[in-house]
Amino acid sequence: MQIIDGKRLANRVQENVAKEVEELKQVKNIVPGLAVILIGDDPASHAYVKMKAKACERVGFYSITHNMPDTISQEEIIATISMMNDNPRIDGILVQLPLPSHVDTDKILEVIDPNKDVDGFHAYNVGRLVTGLESFVACTPLGVMRMFEEYNIDLKGKDVCVVGASNIVGKPMASLLLNTNATVTVTHIYTKDLKSHTLRADIVIVGVGVPALIKADMIKEGAIVIDIGINRISDGSLVGDVDFEAVSNKCSYITPVPGGVGPMTIAMLLANTLKSAKKRLI
Ligand code: NAD
Repeated sequence: MQIIDGKRLANRVQENVAKEVEELKQVKNIVPGLAVILIGDDPASHAYVKMKAKACERVGFYSITHNMPDTISQEEIIATISMMNDNPRIDGILVQLPLPSHVDTDKILEVIDPNKDVDGFHAYNVGRLVTGLESFVACTPLGVMRMFEEYNIDLKGKDVCVVGASNIVGKPMASLLLNTNATVTVTHIYTKDLKSHTLRADIVIVGVGVPALIKADMIKEGAIVIDIGINRISDGSLVGDVDFEAVSNKCSYITPVPGGVGPMTIAMLLANTLKSAKKRLI
């Protein structure tokens, strides 16, 4: 069994982004910029935004965080996004999810300029992804694809079971896999017999938010297991959606939590923002 080291790969991606940023600065006087919109005081959201801001700093981006109270109106959020859409120093706009219940998340995501949609959540980019066109792709599934590439894991014709079907994880993951000619099964909370699907799969990708949902008896011998889940358990530690100890004895590759998909998500956010900044050259 081999552990897929997301942390090491993410560091390498970040180093490459930093090099390109330096070059862009020297040669074209361009500094990529990311605007983050953070609403409310959810500790997990604050922690993620802090990590993203730190990563921006490390690679030499310009970054701003709009920290708003959860009483903020939808109109005020939209006004801030519009301002960022028009700001020439900003190449990427990220609205940290989840949003408070009085805010219409779909509406907010639609306001972001698709050319600055570095999270890849705008329907324009989602549509382009589904049709196999060049687009901004959601950072987490994109990070998983980068891991497959790094470890020379060929997806063509493979049976892949995606567990979890959210707009930000499972659905874009399934589209990316389908675009590489994998045979994809997408499962979710209403799937009747989850085990029957995971057990058949050459590759199982889980992003659900349930600690240890995937047990060893749900995995085929030698399968590849990608754990996207991030769950904080009662002792304060972070675990994924896979029973790591038991499953790792059975599979050929596995991602740890922490140190797997998480760091790749941030690395892909940086890569997407750099890609957006380079469009200024065209
Ligand atoms: P979500 O709540 O929007 O979606 C969860 C999905 O899982 C839904 O499709 C639901 O039907 C399915 N699901 C729930 N319980 C299930 C069960 N028992 N069996 C099968 N399917 C089930 O969550 P999300 O935003 O997609 O996040 C999912 C997990 O991924 C969370 O743990 C989150 O923290 C993590 N996540 C990690 C990263 C990362 O960078 N590693 C990024 C985003 C989300």
